[in-house]
Amino acid sequence: MSKKKTKLSTPKWILEGYDSQEVYNKSKGINKNKKKTKKTFKIRKCPKCDSDNVGVVVGKEKTGEWECHKCKWKGKDINKTEINEEDFMKYLDEKGEEVS
Ligand SMILES: [Zn+2]
Repeated sequence: MSKKKTKLSTPKWILEGYDSQEVYNKSKGINKNKKKTKKTFKIRKCPKCDSDNVGVVVGKEKTGEWECHKCKWKGKDINKTEINEEDFMKYLDEKGEEVS
């Protein structure tokens, strides 16, 4: 049997004297169970004219009444849409264009 030096890949955490890989990862800031935070944004739109120019009726915030500044709709059943960050940026872009 030839005594070749086999390249045994000793894990780094052993070489560096850590108790376990978990401790090693923690000390190096490696987190395998990283939580993916999904950012969502809520957009509220008028159910009548589909405008996003809506706001809570002043003085009726607690009852959750909304009004549309465009068509003067008032009510509670406002359209709520949840979108992700990417779509929200697009939405802001489009909105910005409308204003100018
Ligand atoms: Zn409206």
